[in-house]
Amino acid sequence: ITQLYAPLNFLGFIYREMKHSLADMERMFVIMEAGAEVVDRPGAKTLASRDVAVRFEDVDFGYEPDRQILHRLSFEIPAGSTLAVVGASGAGKSTLARLMFRFYDPTAGRIAFNDMDTRDLTQDSLRAHIGIVPQDTVLFNDSIYYNIAYGRHDATREEVIEAARSAHIHDFVMGLPQGYDTQVGERGLKLSGGEKQRVAIARTLLKNPPILIFDEATSALDSRTEKAIQHELADIAANRTTLMIAHRLSTIVDADRILVLDGGRVIEEGTHRELLARQGRYAEMWRLQQERRDDAAVLELGQ
Ligand code: ATP
Repeated sequence: ITQLYAPLNFLGFIYREMKHSLADMERMFVIMEAGAEVVDRPGAKTLASRDVAVRFEDVDFGYEPDRQILHRLSFEIPAGSTLAVVGASGAGKSTLARLMFRFYDPTAGRIAFNDMDTRDLTQDSLRAHIGIVPQDTVLFNDSIYYNIAYGRHDATREEVIEAARSAHIHDFVMGLPQGYDTQVGERGLKLSGGEKQRVAIARTLLKNPPILIFDEATSALDSRTEKAIQHELADIAANRTTLMIAHRLSTIVDADRILVLDGGRVIEEGTHRELLARQGRYAEMWRLQQERRDDAAVLELGQ
């Protein structure tokens, strides 16, 4: 029975995922697993190192042959550093993340992990190295424990709790009448966006990947939650090669490098300070967000 149960549970999961048509990376991961478009090359190598530098070299990409999305894109994320990507909606930010996870291959140029073309690596080893914290985390209809432990199936209870502590979700869980056995998901307790994100962070901490992709939620969080999450992110990104897709510029002030993307091209690049000094697009975005934050702060105080 248990042998049957796992795949059935999995199918149910896919079904629920599709039903929700959430454009998030985890869902795509599952779909790709079910019918992978990208297959391993014969003799593909295993990525073994835990210090991984990621490089995009003159990458062209389009989802359809007649509509190019990325144009000769080049950048590097040195091992252990954080690269943030900002830009208007549709600029191609999530597309970068999808290529890094190898849902697709570039149409020209290459993506290299430690100088090895990702097309020459096994997908299993590549994906085992990457942890994703998506915009909108989908929870399984199961216990909160299961939802965290999903990050690594052989984790001990102590390790799961440790990850939950590091993601600042442990106290919240202990405050629930059924603790870690609390059922979550559609049919269980509904968690807030911030709580779901912490579950995703705990899951990722448990997986302990050397490469991290963080897709920041677009929805506005109140400034206290935002600050708390910012701290968690800084902790989890420390010493990992991190690609951070950012909407709130306040979360990336400390990124080692920031790319400003527009229409699939890099239009500005530098640190937060350098980009402000340039007084270009980034500086303009920063100014607008500061104004909005001031307005929001007044609203929060007024409540
Ligand atoms: P946002 O900030 O709104 O999330 P983004 O910068 O992440 O935007 P992408 O999701 O990378 O933008 O999309 C870049 C372009 O690629 C968009 O014009 C989009 O319409 C197109 N696109 C994205 N996914 C697909 C797909 N699966 N098939 C075809 N076109 C796609």
